[in-house]
Amino acid sequence: MSLSRFKALTESGNRVSIGIAENGRRSDFFANNVFNEKKMLQYLTKDALESVKNAISSASKIDRKIADQVAEAMKGWAISMGATHYTHWFQPLTGATAEKHDAFFDLLADGTALEKFGGGQLVQQEPDASSFPSGGIRNTFEARGYTAWDPTSPAFVYGTTLCIPTIFVSYTGEALDNKAPLLRALAAVDDAATAVARYFDKNVTKVHATLGWEQEYFLIDKALAQSRPDIVLTGRTLVGNSAAKGQQLDDHYFGVIHNRVLSFMSDLEKECTKLGIPLKTRHNEVAPNQFELAAIFEEANLAVDHNLLLMDVMDKVADKHKFKVLFHEKPFAGINGSGKHNNWSLATDTGVNLLSPGSTPMKNLQFLTFFINTIKAVDTYEELLRSSIASASNDHRLGANEAPPAIFSIFIGSQLSNVLDELEGVSKGKLSPEEKTELKLNVVGKIPEILLDNTDRNRTSPFAFTGNKFEMRGVGAKTNSAKPMTILNTIVAKQLQEFKKEVDTLIDKKGLKKDEAVFNVLREYIKTSKRIRFDGDGYSKEWENEAKKRKLSNNKNTPDALQVLTSKESLALFKATKVMSEVEIGARLAVELDTYILNIQIEGRVYNELVYGYIIPAGIAYQNKLISNVAGLKEIYGAAHKKFSEGQLAMIEEIGEHLDAIKKMTDAMTDARRKANVISDGKRKAEAYCHNVRPYFDEIRKHSDKLEKLLDDQLWPLTKYRELLFVK
Ligand code: ADP
Ligand code: MG
Repeated sequence: MSLSRFKALTESGNRVSIGIAENGRRSDFFANNVFNEKKMLQYLTKDALESVKNAISSASKIDRKIADQVAEAMKGWAISMGATHYTHWFQPLTGATAEKHDAFFDLLADGTALEKFGGGQLVQQEPDASSFPSGGIRNTFEARGYTAWDPTSPAFVYGTTLCIPTIFVSYTGEALDNKAPLLRALAAVDDAATAVARYFDKNVTKVHATLGWEQEYFLIDKALAQSRPDIVLTGRTLVGNSAAKGQQLDDHYFGVIHNRVLSFMSDLEKECTKLGIPLKTRHNEVAPNQFELAAIFEEANLAVDHNLLLMDVMDKVADKHKFKVLFHEKPFAGINGSGKHNNWSLATDTGVNLLSPGSTPMKNLQFLTFFINTIKAVDTYEELLRSSIASASNDHRLGANEAPPAIFSIFIGSQLSNVLDELEGVSKGKLSPEEKTELKLNVVGKIPEILLDNTDRNRTSPFAFTGNKFEMRGVGAKTNSAKPMTILNTIVAKQLQEFKKEVDTLIDKKGLKKDEAVFNVLREYIKTSKRIRFDGDGYSKEWENEAKKRKLSNNKNTPDALQVLTSKESLALFKATKVMSEVEIGARLAVELDTYILNIQIEGRVYNELVYGYIIPAGIAYQNKLISNVAGLKEIYGAAHKKFSEGQLAMIEEIGEHLDAIKKMTDAMTDARRKANVISDGKRKAEAYCHNVRPYFDEIRKHSDKLEKLLDDQLWPLTKYRELLFVK
């Protein structure tokens, strides 16, 4: 009985940690496997290098001749690194990355074997991508998809494959992936932010968004994880009684890292270092067997690629150490889930962080400009930003009493709030010399000091200012950060476009000086974006009520959260910033809804399997044991047996009731699925899955977990929470 659980426990109990030797300083082998500028300098002619650098800084096209040169150089370098294959590495809308490997190896007509890789293969490929979701784009336009080189993210050798980061688009140019819209959003924010930054410094010619992610994850013994069909198929436990001990002792957070885990982490860090992923921090997280790692921030497109690559490397390294990484946002009930904080800012090509105050009043006015415009952008598009992190798995965190809430708000701390309050009092129109001096010295001038001792921290805020960047906390651990980064940079780009227009109008039409105009526009933004600012407890019921009064959205599930994607305002936004066409957004909505449906559908099917294959048989087995026991007692003691068997009888009934409830609910859930499946409209189908199917999951689980508590441990077939979370 329940062989796999006990076999898995024995297997995991016998593990020893693989020792990982540190071979020298990490800085010595950082980015060894990356075809970066240093390698290009070695392998490329001067012209080719210039051309690639131009393509990186200004997105200019690389002509075919140069592409051939670059390909030849890349091939030479990659082969010297042991690569035998190359692949276009892209990000289909499924959320993960995709790759199709081709060998460098080729044959000439006369049968001579050689290694071949030309500019054509570097620049563009046509993967047989018909089974990637396209939201109907390919059908509509009868166009095939192709991948195209993104020179802004350097190629790298991973294992024996040269990986070339690419976008994935249809032949008619529609984005079929997550990278193409991100690149467009980054271009939009570059344009808009550069124009605004030039009010303050004419030397600025480019602004790039920066992203520093913090990745949370669970690490579970591989054998134990594999013993659970739900973990294997859905990435989370669909049932499971909480262990007697959870995270209440807070003894895991920042605790000593267990040997086996530490050797996994060291191994992972070494791999990542070679791949140029600048990992910085590692520690235990709050929940048992939960961990976090964080990288040094980078340009956002590169940071997104690095995060996706990291997740892939984590899977592979974990396998070597006989672990399974769980990226699911809520793998276990009753303890914390996993997120991926996205720390975001804007930086100029003159080396200035636009969300960091400086040493002069002018620099601080620049800081305030970007700070307040970001607040205003999030206020205007809070619902859209929320939609960018919606998924079936993240629904377990957002809006489910788990960090952070589904309501977007911004935390800036009391001191910066005071600054904004003071700025609200700035006079309309021209400012008197006294007022200007006062503002410059006592309001704007004091900002650096304020931030120095701004130790305010608010862990419940979904969007917090943390001194020199904003931290977006609702992003799911599994989510491709390209999605939230696309939306965030798009809305900030749009907001900065508006700001520039308004300031220019005040200067041109009203004759205001630049700083007066900036103060005037910012004052209005402070007034009109107040509702998004909230420094209190984001998890409280009071905030939910208050947010409702402020007319902030509170979309607790994915089908609701996604609807805003195609609103009139959203379409106008994407058009004005050239980030997505109406067709592309419609396709994205369709794919997201479909992904949601499929995820819930799979969970529903796994419930069927768990219930009929594991839970009911286990319940019956134990019930039968009890029944034989009671029958035996009756045989020996006759009517007097009741004295000893009352407890057993009650248990027989209790088990019976749970089994009955589980069966009824599972059948009703199956029926609800059948009904949902015939709905053809994506939105209505997703809603049916959300409101008619999913609610059964919690009910089935409730009874199953009670049953688990009642049953003989030896008969329970599913590896228990205690074992998954505490066995090292
Ligand atoms: P905290 O204590 O606020 O968590 P850290 O300085 O350790 O602060 O940063 C946390 C994360 O924020 C790291 O991933 C870091 O790279 C990132 N980060 C720091 N500065 C920036 C920035 N200017 N832009 C984007 N991310 C940043
Ligand atoms: Mg943080």
